[in-house]
Amino acid sequence: MRHKSIVVLTGAGISSESGIATFRGSGGLWENRRVEELASPRGFAVYPELVHRFYNGRRRQMLSPSIRPNAAHHALAELESGFPGRFLLVTQNIDDLHERSGSVKVIHLHGELLKKRCAHCGDVESTKADLAVTDTCRACGRNGGMRPHVVWFGEMPLRMEEIHAALRCCDLFVAIGTSGNVYPAAGFVDAAIAAGARTVELNLEPSAVESAFEEKIYGNASRIVPQFARTLLA
Ligand code: NAD
Repeated sequence: MRHKSIVVLTGAGISSESGIATFRGSGGLWENRRVEELASPRGFAVYPELVHRFYNGRRRQMLSPSIRPNAAHHALAELESGFPGRFLLVTQNIDDLHERSGSVKVIHLHGELLKKRCAHCGDVESTKADLAVTDTCRACGRNGGMRPHVVWFGEMPLRMEEIHAALRCCDLFVAIGTSGNVYPAAGFVDAAIAAGARTVELNLEPSAVESAFEEKIYGNASRIVPQFARTLLA
């Protein structure tokens, strides 16, 4: 086996063939407001009902029976279970399709839609239900602070130390279905290069940071990810 430590980064592109709509569909507007305006601490402070409606809709969509992991999610789960070295999957996605396909070591650096967090005390709890401004926190008993456990514009991504520790010692970095526009994830390729890793981009089209990658394969994730994973396990 050529590699000892793999870090995979995934973005919205890996879930698009599973039917998960991107944030920026419909011109990036939702109920006539820019998504960036809503998906922010200020958006939540000013329009909490609107923000809840937005995320409740996304959560319901994600839980609908038609949404299932695709061949790319499954291939990464098989790669993780079949690879004898260290493996870490870092996803920018807030959906749970990697877990549903069997991936185990997954870091959601932008949070998870199936969790809610209390803005007052920080308690995090799993949820499949809609959130409302009247919800009470199970830990501190206060209401009005329950919010989706997702990272909004202007907030710090999660578990960055663990991610950078893995990047520092990886010998293969693979970015899948990500446009390379959202930092810090778009900069992970540079950290992997600094570690001396082989770098591969798998995407529908060249990303904004395409020139940093040593190898690139373009096409639908459901086709190119299983093919690539097979070459690693061969
Ligand atoms: P992005 O929307 O900016 O880019 C998606 C990339 O995937 C594009 O480069 C596109 O060419 C590529 N792509 C589209 N369909 C593909 C396919 N079938 N196969 C392979 N590649 C395909 O996504 P991003 O880089 O992840 O950044 C967007 C932000 O929005 C992130 O912060 C993410 O958290 C969030 N987001 C999450 C979800 C989700 O949880 N599923 C969905 C939309 C947006």
